[in-house]
Amino acid sequence: MATVRSQEAERKDWDTYFMDIAYMVSTRSRCSRRHVGALLVQGKKLLGTAYNGAPMGVPDCSEAGCMIAEELEITIENGQEKMIKKQRCIRTIHAEQNLLLFTDPVNREGSSVYVTDQPCWTCANMLANSGVQEIVYHRSYPKDSDKVSLLMEQKGIIFRSVTDYVPPPQAAMSVIS
Ligand SMILES: [Zn+2]
Ligand SMILES: [Zn+2]
Repeated sequence: MATVRSQEAERKDWDTYFMDIAYMVSTRSRCSRRHVGALLVQGKKLLGTAYNGAPMGVPDCSEAGCMIAEELEITIENGQEKMIKKQRCIRTIHAEQNLLLFTDPVNREGSSVYVTDQPCWTCANMLANSGVQEIVYHRSYPKDSDKVSLLMEQKGIIFRSVTDYVPPPQAAMSVIS
């Protein structure tokens, strides 16, 4: 009986199980700035996987280099205009966007998305309109975090991070934000 109980204790919980898969999927990415993996999960069933990358059949970041674009975002803080400068690699389609391209809308209704990284604004905006009910992420993306969290609250989408989670060592990387 004691043996059975200790085996049960070692069993992965669902968040760890799906986040481990998302990290393994992310290892397919060839963008040196960030490897992102995303999964569509409906009722504990895995219905789609995606990672960030260039469109199929064209050179990716490892072959052609990242395509860096700089964006200026203007926000108002205490009545003062503030400019935030952001650099992004725009060669890749983000993992969440690829996930939406390759999954059936029917499978997204009431589903969960597991993603290695907190979605950027554009991905969050698309996910908010996709039928997804929950988004679970691991690494934070502070630049868009406040407005993405507000959007999720307005849409009533559960938005949570797995804070105690540790990724599989072979999938861990340092990211450029
Ligand atoms: Zn890149
Ligand atoms: Zn994104």
